[in-house]
Amino acid sequence: MRLSRAFLPTLKETPADAQIASHRLMLRAGLVRQTSAGIYAWLPAGLRVLRRVEQIVREEQDRAGAQEILMPTIQSADLWRESGRYDDYGKEMLRITDRHDRDMLFGPTNEEMVTDIFKTYARSYRDLPRNLYHIQWKFRDEVRPRFGVMRGREFLMKDAYSFDATQDGARHSYRQMFLAYLRTFQRLGLTAVPMRADTGPIGGDLSHEFIILADTGESGVFYDATYETTDWAGTDVATDDVAGLEAFFNGVTASYAATDEMHDAAAWSQVPQDRRREGRGIEVGHIFYFGTKYSAAMGLTLPGPDGTTVVPEMGSYGIGVSRLVGALIEANHDEAGIKWPDAVAPWAATILNLRVGDAATDAMCEQLYAALGDEAVYDDRGSRAGEKFADADLMGFPWQAIIGPRGAAAGKVELKRRATGERVEVSFEEAIAKIRGG
Ligand code: ATP
Ligand code: MG
Repeated sequence: MRLSRAFLPTLKETPADAQIASHRLMLRAGLVRQTSAGIYAWLPAGLRVLRRVEQIVREEQDRAGAQEILMPTIQSADLWRESGRYDDYGKEMLRITDRHDRDMLFGPTNEEMVTDIFKTYARSYRDLPRNLYHIQWKFRDEVRPRFGVMRGREFLMKDAYSFDATQDGARHSYRQMFLAYLRTFQRLGLTAVPMRADTGPIGGDLSHEFIILADTGESGVFYDATYETTDWAGTDVATDDVAGLEAFFNGVTASYAATDEMHDAAAWSQVPQDRRREGRGIEVGHIFYFGTKYSAAMGLTLPGPDGTTVVPEMGSYGIGVSRLVGALIEANHDEAGIKWPDAVAPWAATILNLRVGDAATDAMCEQLYAALGDEAVYDDRGSRAGEKFADADLMGFPWQAIIGPRGAAAGKVELKRRATGERVEVSFEEAIAKIRGG
């Protein structure tokens, strides 16, 4: 992408109504544009990050054996009448009437719809277990949308739904998602702590929230420092290893972690003093095992073995994909702007041409741009160097390849690593290798 032709708008002034760093930076770096309260358009750089986050989430869902589908955003109210949630859901649900006066709604979640779809095809207990997920926009008419995409009204969620023949099976499905979540957040470079949560209106007896530590988070958290250093991605437990996964789950959850709602002072006092961590956090994921609440209410019953009947045990598993973009910025920024981790950066590098019009500088920049292709944004604008540096820092490219007449003459590129501020002078080939290496 050549910056002279790209749609990558940046703002110099700090937007007045943005209270937290990620919201300010998302607006200033041109990632999103608010179109109504809590509703955002995603601009090119923001969309690329959103897609990368989505892809990591998808890969870990697939790895855990879940299968991707895509359910619509608009749902029929009748489905929600079957489960009894149409009246319970209240004002957060956006209700719509179509031209035939039928009651519709913009889906805030999909338990009813997925149960109905599964019911259509499942013939017997042999069709269990299954886990279906989708990554789709949700709408919840939040009382107080705020903090940008962090608490929007329209937001992108990954939601998975598991169906099992037995309670033990359902607990295994739950643990599969638990592991997938730890891996997902670790790949995103985030420290996400699984905290025992209240099951609330969804019902059921097992629930965890995955919370990223951040001073601007909405939840108060208490946790054992063990969670800061564990390598989840590195665990070799296989997703189908029932006993191994149970042992893994019990091991992880043995350490204390709770939000203020679930905090237990007596258990907390058992955690060694030097390992107690208190702070604030952002909920990026939430998983539930709720049993037969929807299957029973919606008539999902299957012939079981030996003339028995099976009412599938279900769980649901959400990740706030668009919220994660905000959370990632909360965890990775400084005064000057965003510091994208390599795994989600919209582009790996920017090439800063410090003297547009100087033949050797232009040639070297073009050559590097040709080699990096879609992984780089080439700042070929005629603007001042100071402005280019400021925009590059704001937009947060992991690497800045800085090229001026002196370097071009010597065949050298100055590489700046955004995360650390470190600068090195390297050859053209080394620059490419470092940028590709992350
Ligand atoms: P919260 O407690 O933050 O309101 P929730 O418990 O209502 O969230 P869930 O129904 O558990 O949310 O949804 C799954 C995930 O979707 C949450 O963990 C969160 O990451 C994300 N999410 C929920 N509400 C919003 C929102 N208004 N804007 C952005 N993401 C959201
Ligand atoms: Mg929740």
